[in-house]
Amino acid sequence: MKKECAIVQDLLALYEDDCLQEESRKMVEDHIAECQECRWVYEACEKMQDIQVQAQTESDLQIQKSASQIMKKIKRRTTLKAVIGIVLIVAVIIGGHVFCNHITDSEWGYSEMLYGIASDDVEVAQLYQLAGGDIYCVLKSSKSIGIQSMTGLQDPSELSDQNEEQTLEYRMRGRTFWETVSVPEIKQSTIIFPVRLEGISEETKQEYTCYAKQVAFYGKTMSDKKVIWNEGQDIAKAPDEIEYRAIRAYLENGNVEKAYAECESLGWDSAKIIAEIGKQTSQDGIYEDAGVPILVNEE
Ligand SMILES: [Zn+2]
Repeated sequence: MKKECAIVQDLLALYEDDCLQEESRKMVEDHIAECQECRWVYEACEKMQDIQVQAQTESDLQIQKSASQIMKKIKRRTTLKAVIGIVLIVAVIIGGHVFCNHITDSEWGYSEMLYGIASDDVEVAQLYQLAGGDIYCVLKSSKSIGIQSMTGLQDPSELSDQNEEQTLEYRMRGRTFWETVSVPEIKQSTIIFPVRLEGISEETKQEYTCYAKQVAFYGKTMSDKKVIWNEGQDIAKAPDEIEYRAIRAYLENGNVEKAYAECESLGWDSAKIIAEIGKQTSQDGIYEDAGVPILVNEE
């Protein structure tokens, strides 16, 4: 190898990278134009570099491809986990709600378990039997009570034997979640429970009579129960003041017939009493829908 060839071949790498000064670059170009051996070396170098660049690009692409595949897998797994997570959470919520409904025998689910009042927190402050037989009950609590459901009324058409004697069980419950946020605190509630209930079945159009079997307050669950009154239980007769409030409550709930009957049971002058109450009560108040049992307005 000529001395110049050795120099040129040493410089080829720098020439390729365009790192030579003008004079050296010209010298390399002039030499490879004339020297076949150095031209071969130069061309070989160039090819090698092309191959290397190509290989580099290909491997980069490969890495990118693999990385994006891995990311996709991770994303897919994350999405799957999130979906499974959400499904599980929803299932737990619904399952819990159904379970709560089951043990509380109501449709309030968690609300009752969380916000309901334990039956021990409710005190029966007054309990009387009215002259007509109905049960007059005052409930008190240090916690807000807001009676939210009273069940036990059944349409006799739903029973298999319609001649069977009907019995009622009044179930009272604490407040719902919505009552805890929307209704001012109620510490006392007065309710009148009919012991005998007459009606006409909407389906069969037949008359029926029901008798109350029990009045009870249920706490957070069905096993947390406070019995207030049982069928046949002897309780104090209501004093006149309570009778007067009850007659007023009957009128306010649109049950004029019952208000008259109560007066007659007491031997009171029904026309006089009802006219008197009518004057105190707004016309709107008198003709409300009859609700059973009756919630008495607190004074
Ligand atoms: Zn040469």
